[in-house]
Amino acid sequence: MTEPTPAQERLHQLWAEIRDLDSALATLEWDQETFLPEGGSAARGRVLATLTGIRHQRLTSPALADAVARVEAEAPPGSLAADQARVARRDLERATRVPEELARALALAKSQGVAAWRRAREASDVRLFERELAHLVELKRQEAAALADGGAPYDALLDEFDPGSTEAALVPLFAGLRRDLVPLLDRVRGSAVTVDEDPARGSFPVEPQRRFGAAAARAIGFRFDAGRLDLSTHPFCTGIARTDVRMTWRYQEDDFRPGLFGILHESGHGLYEQGLPPELDHTPLGRDAGSAVHESQSRLWENHVGRSRGFWRWALPRFRAAFPGTPADLDRLWPTLHVVRPSFIRVEADEVTYGLHIAIRFEIERALFAGRLGAVDLRDAWNQLYRELLGLEPARDAEGVLQDIHWSLGLFGYFPTYALGSMAAAQLFATAHRDLGDPEELFARGDFAPLLHWLRERVHAHGARWTRDELLARATGAPLSPDALLAHLREQVEAVYGGR
Ligand code: ZN
Repeated sequence: MTEPTPAQERLHQLWAEIRDLDSALATLEWDQETFLPEGGSAARGRVLATLTGIRHQRLTSPALADAVARVEAEAPPGSLAADQARVARRDLERATRVPEELARALALAKSQGVAAWRRAREASDVRLFERELAHLVELKRQEAAALADGGAPYDALLDEFDPGSTEAALVPLFAGLRRDLVPLLDRVRGSAVTVDEDPARGSFPVEPQRRFGAAAARAIGFRFDAGRLDLSTHPFCTGIARTDVRMTWRYQEDDFRPGLFGILHESGHGLYEQGLPPELDHTPLGRDAGSAVHESQSRLWENHVGRSRGFWRWALPRFRAAFPGTPADLDRLWPTLHVVRPSFIRVEADEVTYGLHIAIRFEIERALFAGRLGAVDLRDAWNQLYRELLGLEPARDAEGVLQDIHWSLGLFGYFPTYALGSMAAAQLFATAHRDLGDPEELFARGDFAPLLHWLRERVHAHGARWTRDELLARATGAPLSPDALLAHLREQVEAVYGGR
């Protein structure tokens, strides 16, 4: 290890303060979603706005710009210090390129957007949200143009969540997904097999569900001395620090699946946060490599581990102990974890149809930002795509175009990361499978450490140093492709719906 130079020390010191503000914000936001009394929300809103303002000032301060420029000038290209400066530069440019007036207008448009979206969803009428949505899209176009600095606006939005991502690179990925998922869905529809879901249904009281879920999280490596699990309306995971990772879950009393797979999903996010390299703490690189990579970790543990036979060979005796009287044996239980059923609602979708829900949102966002679609065309475009890809037509906007909160918050360019995460998860797992031998045998013994260790080395240890494709190329030998995901899904559909 070489000693840090004075310029590197200065950058580190200034960045550590920004990270501390991030931690404070994350703690307050976590609290808002879990324990904050209803009456406290206005006061909390103020505190969050103040801290966000201070963070913006720090990020755009001349002192930080100077420190970054000095490190850039002295660090050899490709060195860790140069990469620290590169990522810091990216964040501070994003923060400075958007004029303050536009940032304020956007903040206002978002709060008006969410309020209008809630009213519209309540009334199940997208027209009540059209005006606010059109305004948001217009402001986001301006923001994207400012961020893109001459490049394509929608790319600037994608890049915020998945660094390096471009529309041109995503189009063939999603085309591949659509081309193969639609016939796969036809295969399920044409099958004579109906999965008996009784083994997954019954009475699952909350406390045993929590204990069983937490035991599974602990078994795969989540450290509860550096994390927590609490209830919330919408499950999420937030890394306040590498040593303080908060996840939340929700449950259904009559079906154990949403609760357990929610916990395994958030644990995957949590393992990533807990696995970030200590030597990069408080530095620009001491964080995740973007939402797509983050989602690859959650999907991997949820779907490739949690829904595997190996995992359940280990879990079943524990499951029976947690829920006495459950009749399930593995051959009856396993198919219930792989039911494929086209539905209107993204968050309830199975592994096969999920990618199609995202492909629809990607199509619509692209068209919105290319000016091919306006807010008034949204319902028709949405319903037509659902007919085309999933064979369903939403009868009500509430279960159609109004189901997700994202767009009302100005979150455009975020949806694709969900599907990219599924593709990356499958690609990583297929490589781990090759490197580790049959992981199912390890899982059956409750031995999840070799897989976690593999992910630590290939993914977690690099923090934000590489883009999604650089990381995948290093870990798996190739940039992102839908192939591994499609192979995984075909195998699963054949096993469950292939019939006798
Ligand atoms: Zn997730």
